Amino acid sequence: MIIRVSEIPEEGLSIEGVAEFPHPFQDPAWILEGLSLLVEKDGNDVLVRGRMRARVPQTCSRCLELFPFEVQAQMDTRYCPRPARGEEVELTPDALEVDFYADDLLDVNRLLRTETELGLPMKPLCRQDCRGLCPVCGGNRNITPCACEVRLPDPRLAALKDLAERLTRQ
Ligand SMILES: [Zn+2]
Ligand SMILES: [Zn+2]
Repeated sequence: MIIRVSEIPEEGLSIEGVAEFPHPFQDPAWILEGLSLLVEKDGNDVLVRGRMRARVPQTCSRCLELFPFEVQAQMDTRYCPRPARGEEVELTPDALEVDFYADDLLDVNRLLRTETELGLPMKPLCRQDCRGLCPVCGGNRNITPCACEVRLPDPRLAALKDLAERLTRQ
């Protein structure tokens, strides 16, 4: 969705729901689930405030299974007209984030993409207590608990076992 800044009404533009955003993301597996935005003009600036919710498939860093991750983001962004080359910009300190718009156009999809990407985890986990993959058999320990011995064999115990075997053979 692209908003013409000059067409934003005096009372602001309110966007509720995702109906106007059929494909906000490049990846069709990313789904926008909820949106509530208020777009207002402040002089030549545009203020965008609200919140969004999206569902993005992620691969668990422990068990390597794909799972849906829910991103929730609060938005409070001030868009200033992109300054001409070499022109100084005075940034207002009260705004949480400052971005620019150009040619009277504000790309809301780009804002949603950025907020969603920022909300993705560095180390995705399908659940906090994910047991991961067994280093011995490679099985997913969340699904099938295996009886693999993960401890490294103790060389002293191996020597004793060896001796015991020799004794019983005699
Ligand atoms: Zn996992
Ligand atoms: Zn195993």
